[in-house]
Amino acid sequence: MQPYSITASMLYNLVSCEHRLYLDTFGDASQRDEPNAFIQLLWEKGTLFEQEVIQKLETPFLDLSRYRGDEKERRTREAIEQRVSLIYSGRLSVNDLLGEPDLLRNDGEGYVAGDIKSGSGEEGDEDQGKPKKTYAVQLGLYTDILERLNCSAGRWAFIWDIHGKEIRYEFSQPQGRRTPETWWELYNTVRQRAQDILEQRHETQAAYSSGICKLCHWYRPCLLNLQKQHDLTLLPELGRSKRDALRTHFSTIQNFAASDLKSLINGKKTIISGIGLGTIQKLHARAQLVSAGAHARPYLREAIDLPAHDSEVFFDIEVDPLRDHTYLHGFIERHHQDHSTEQYVAFFAENPTPDAEQTAFAQAIEYLQQHAHSMVYYYSKYERTMYRKLQTKYPDVCSADDIETLFLRERAIDLYFDVVLKATEWPTRDYSIKTLAKYLGFLWRDTHPSGAASIEWFHRWVESGDQIIRQRILDYNEDDCIATRVLLDGIRKLPIKTSNP
Ligand code: SF4
Repeated sequence: MQPYSITASMLYNLVSCEHRLYLDTFGDASQRDEPNAFIQLLWEKGTLFEQEVIQKLETPFLDLSRYRGDEKERRTREAIEQRVSLIYSGRLSVNDLLGEPDLLRNDGEGYVAGDIKSGSGEEGDEDQGKPKKTYAVQLGLYTDILERLNCSAGRWAFIWDIHGKEIRYEFSQPQGRRTPETWWELYNTVRQRAQDILEQRHETQAAYSSGICKLCHWYRPCLLNLQKQHDLTLLPELGRSKRDALRTHFSTIQNFAASDLKSLINGKKTIISGIGLGTIQKLHARAQLVSAGAHARPYLREAIDLPAHDSEVFFDIEVDPLRDHTYLHGFIERHHQDHSTEQYVAFFAENPTPDAEQTAFAQAIEYLQQHAHSMVYYYSKYERTMYRKLQTKYPDVCSADDIETLFLRERAIDLYFDVVLKATEWPTRDYSIKTLAKYLGFLWRDTHPSGAASIEWFHRWVESGDQIIRQRILDYNEDDCIATRVLLDGIRKLPIKTSNP
């Protein structure tokens, strides 16, 4: 019997990174980074939202939130025996599983578990959403406990989400058309992995992932280790699964770079499971570039058409996903590629209200339509996705066709997907705008610039009305726009190298 119980938050973290579960359990806590302000905000908002939902509940329920540990569990079991219709903040455990679902609801046949989440209950579009893995494994744990205690109403659970919807998680369903494994099987795989980690039967390793690691409290120690080991995940687009597949052949970036690429290729395939020919060629060239150390220089893999325009606009938006509120549309306008002509224009939805959001969106659309002859540059599909969403939310501002016209390739270029990923190589560990613009010498005025930090500042601006915070948000967005320009100029100067170095 392991000395640790498997909890829902363990499974949630494990879905993002298995090493996180190992470090959280066995790591040296003194090495942990300070909690990230954005993550703290997420927790605070989550707790506040849960309280709001519970206060507005019109159906009677048993509130166990003031109890802890064994006392909470004793009262939960008692309530289940008495067939209480709704239990808030209960606790149940069986064998090595421990769950504290926000809700336990008596559905006649037995109990189903639910959580209250201050985000969307599904991922993807609202009409075609699918369950989130992180939520599914948590709900799976609660359902498993209910089953083992013989009081489950069936293999399903629910989320009450930020949109006021109840999202049903059906565990017998396959995860998707391409993933026939059911949600229940996923839960069991993740639970088993957690058990193996906690019993130290499975050795975990850090794997660099820009989006996940930068928000993790083990970021610094993990990065130091990965750098010391020259870990393959420090190559852009080479994540844990590709690293693990490659590791049977190479343990470091340098080993991989020094290998004879031909020895990895067999006809139109490679000998590495799950990695195709084009991918291995790209990753091998990347490993060689990174291994060149101080001599490494970025380059173009192919010629790319980036014609000079008299007028260019560099565009970046800021969105608070916790409020589902697009609060800032920033533009840097430049003429004849002369930096002295640069001008920053921003449309700021300062209040977190639909009216303010709609007004700022309308102003930004008007601005872009007035600059129909400028070439617009942005970084990642996010801007286009959010503009499509805003158009659906505020159809009076413009039509869906207007949005598609604004983002036509002839007049708007996604520097990330259309240029950086498609045609460039950089001796960096990821291709975020921060990493690449910093590589090119650009410095943000803020000492801790990040999209997550900006969301936290926006939250504090709304709470306090502090003008210093307001300016910090604007400066950060302006710098993001300038960074996009710096990157474009840098790419224009890159040499072309068509074969492996
Ligand atoms: S920093 Fe990254 S690799 Fe390390 S535990 Fe966190 S998520 Fe995992």
